[in-house]
Amino acid sequence: MNIIILGAPGSGKGTQGARLAGKLGIPKIATGDLLREAVKAQSELGVMAANYMNQGLLVPDDVIIGLIREILDAPQARNGIIMDGFPRTVHQAEAVDNLLAENGRTVDQVLYFDVPADELVERMHKRAVEEGRSDDTPETIRRRLSVYEEQTLPLREFYEKRGLLTSVEATGTIDEVEKRVHEALKQ
Ligand code: ADP
Repeated sequence: MNIIILGAPGSGKGTQGARLAGKLGIPKIATGDLLREAVKAQSELGVMAANYMNQGLLVPDDVIIGLIREILDAPQARNGIIMDGFPRTVHQAEAVDNLLAENGRTVDQVLYFDVPADELVERMHKRAVEEGRSDDTPETIRRRLSVYEEQTLPLREFYEKRGLLTSVEATGTIDEVEKRVHEALKQ
């Protein structure tokens, strides 16, 4: 199963993705995590990405598509993968399709995590206090949400048209959402 979790920042993709990965026995990979590691290691990718991330902007597609290629070509992704935080633009989504198709793979399902905007803002402010992530300032939180609406939300329609999208009400407790994720999974 190649599954994409699509949802706004703060919608719980990482938490649920990790649980789902455990259940299905396939890895969950987040571009955000890989980018943060690169920033920490001060690699070429990290130095380049940090500016965008700290401003709440997307890292440019050409860079991210290179990263997505590495992720999808890795042996551990060959038997299925949960994609967390990518694709984030239509261009990236097309790249995912093409890269998977190179080995006869396809996107099997897209879980869209639905959370009202005011709750997202509340969750991100809470996380800012708990984790101190450098892109969780009030201004970048607003920016990331608007970038999400403009550049990532069009993917909902992109996958809906192909019959791949399942909406999951991603509010309530973590266990409640996990139950809905299991119900949403295609057999
Ligand atoms: P969140 O879901 O809270 O926004 P992420 O960890 O997914 O957090 O992403 C953090 C930042 O990393 C984004 O704001 C963006 O700058 C960058 N990033 C992560 N994934 C991508 C991607 N697929 N395309 C472009 N930028 C990305």
